[in-house]
Amino acid sequence: MNMIAPGRTIGVLGGGQLGRMLAMEGRRMGYRVGVLDPVENCPAAQVADFYVQSDLTNIQGVLDFVSKVDVVTVETELVPWKLLAKIEEVRPSRPSSFVLGLVQDRLVQRQFLQIHGFPQTLFASIQGRESFKGAAQQVGFPSILKTRRLGYDGMGQIRVSSEKHLNEAWRELSENPSVLEAIVPFKMELSVVLARSLQGDIQLYSLAENVHKQNILHSTRVPAKVPHKVWSRAEELAVSLTEALDYCGVMAVELFLLEDGTLLVNEVAPRPHNSGHFTFGACVTSQFEQHLRAICGLPLGASSLLHPVTMVNLLGNLWQEGPPQWDRLLVHPQVQLHLYGKSQAGPRRKMGHFLLFEDNRSHALSQVETILQELAHKHPGSDCHRKDGISELSVLDSQTTLSSAEFH
Ligand code: AMP
Repeated sequence: MNMIAPGRTIGVLGGGQLGRMLAMEGRRMGYRVGVLDPVENCPAAQVADFYVQSDLTNIQGVLDFVSKVDVVTVETELVPWKLLAKIEEVRPSRPSSFVLGLVQDRLVQRQFLQIHGFPQTLFASIQGRESFKGAAQQVGFPSILKTRRLGYDGMGQIRVSSEKHLNEAWRELSENPSVLEAIVPFKMELSVVLARSLQGDIQLYSLAENVHKQNILHSTRVPAKVPHKVWSRAEELAVSLTEALDYCGVMAVELFLLEDGTLLVNEVAPRPHNSGHFTFGACVTSQFEQHLRAICGLPLGASSLLHPVTMVNLLGNLWQEGPPQWDRLLVHPQVQLHLYGKSQAGPRRKMGHFLLFEDNRSHALSQVETILQELAHKHPGSDCHRKDGISELSVLDSQTTLSSAEFH
């Protein structure tokens, strides 16, 4: 009754790598996929059936796009929830405006977790200088000041060690409403990627162990090496969260594991997630296919892991002296390369990733380091102006406007 069958049209708001992989999987399944993004030739537009160039502030443009599709999804939680609420008047939006509204404000998300009894770090709302004293008493130092809105990959957050420092950080964050969070002395970062169907069925992917560098995801190792008790607690938290949100689609729940085995929820991402990229190559059903199945009212696919895997992000800094020499990566036969078709590389920009299929964890780790060093190594005769078709690749300066492709 609620099924949107292959052959019908899916609309994706946002044209970054998540939209691209959603479109690739959707088209493989026989769906038509439309993408809306302000940046022409964005990663998803390159593989979609149709593309609409529009900003999310152009309400009429968005509604025209929506009228051409059967169901709407997003590839970034930055799509304004009020816009989604408007869309919901004419088409199903999955995730819903309710879920987006909740996660796009860090304070509201933390309060939701608190009300529902999910374990998390201490936090306090910062509305203005008058909140400093109370927040410092409640949370203590060291802590992290994070803007309530528009933060991602460590943007809009500053570590603070004293009230004076808090004052400086507040100014640096343009005095935007923020949350002060106690720093968690975590032993490991984990994530659960899972899907919940329209009927409430759930599929969980293997628990993933994440390594961040400079607040940006560097690599994901799967399966995570944790005791059974931690594994099941992580799954239990993630399932309860999707149920508390009455969620439909793929979601990632980021967790901190403490020395004593306690898990704290860091944040929730109501969409396919970077730490779930391993599923696209290493699982029976990728997170992208799974998301489409869920939002289209179809049964979920198996989430079983086919092989132990390490996913490594390829950031723009590897492009500093020209595009990497891919033969150095692909000479490793257990490697699978995914590039997002981005024509400009910025130092922290996610340009692609690779999967390394290797059973032995310590071999996998050393191989990843070797591969990254080989890729970073300047190759003879390379510069930023190669005349081989990739010559337009340039390093972005900090002023360049980025599409939603940046947000994951
Ligand atoms: P976020 O944007 O909140 O996901 O933060 C990005 C990364 O910063 C996380 O994956 C952690 O590595 C680190 N981080 C964020 N919040 C905290 C915290 N309260 N304590 C310790 N590390 C944190």
